Amino acid sequence: LCTPAAAKTLTVATDTNFPPFEFKDASGKHTGFDVELWDAIARQLGMDYKLQPMDFNGIIPGLQTGQLDAGIAGMTIKPERAEVIDFSDPYYNAGLLIMVKADNTDVNGIEDLKGKVVSTKLGTTSEDFVKKNANAEEVKLFPNNDAMILELMSGGADAVVFDSPVLANFMRSDAGKGKVKVVGPLYMGQSYGIGFPKGSPLTAKVNEALKKLRESGAYDALYMKWFGTEP
Ligand code: GLN
Repeated sequence: LCTPAAAKTLTVATDTNFPPFEFKDASGKHTGFDVELWDAIARQLGMDYKLQPMDFNGIIPGLQTGQLDAGIAGMTIKPERAEVIDFSDPYYNAGLLIMVKADNTDVNGIEDLKGKVVSTKLGTTSEDFVKKNANAEEVKLFPNNDAMILELMSGGADAVVFDSPVLANFMRSDAGKGKVKVVGPLYMGQSYGIGFPKGSPLTAKVNEALKKLRESGAYDALYMKWFGTEP
């Protein structure tokens, strides 16, 4: 039965730009793995929603105050966050990488960031990782991907530290091809989860939908479409 509460349009946050999970296509529409995965979940559950792209560091506070009903933004599941919001089951495994200009020869791993200027995104696992593990001269924090990467390209930073699938995607893009490279191993394994306000009844429903999408092969098809490999 369709009660007014069930018919509510959900407000679902995503990052403004975190390709290939979410980004604006040539027509200005948000698309990507997260965007299409959420759409498949919502259709499975018969829920209406409005997608709200925003700077990543606004998403957790928006979930905490209940202004957002969910957030799908390549968001890493971690204990400190799980104290203030709920997470779905993991839906993607990633890690962190170091990216430098293609002609850089002196940065080959985290230890070489000592005394260097590092660019990354505000409020992310990369901010924590760099502050804890790189003895950097300066850590420049940006609200979005474009500014974070531009800082490296324009010479304002020696390296970017960020999520592996996003840096791999940039390296293959027209803007990055031949101009940048990643160095060192994959750091700090992490799993992405969808975020919800604490105690939200949506969490269990979304986990159920995710499970069905995995069973039906729809999840694998989306993964193949956006990452070009099997999960
Ligand atoms: N996975 C990282 C984090 O959760 C970055 C997410 C993002 O920038 N959208 O902190």
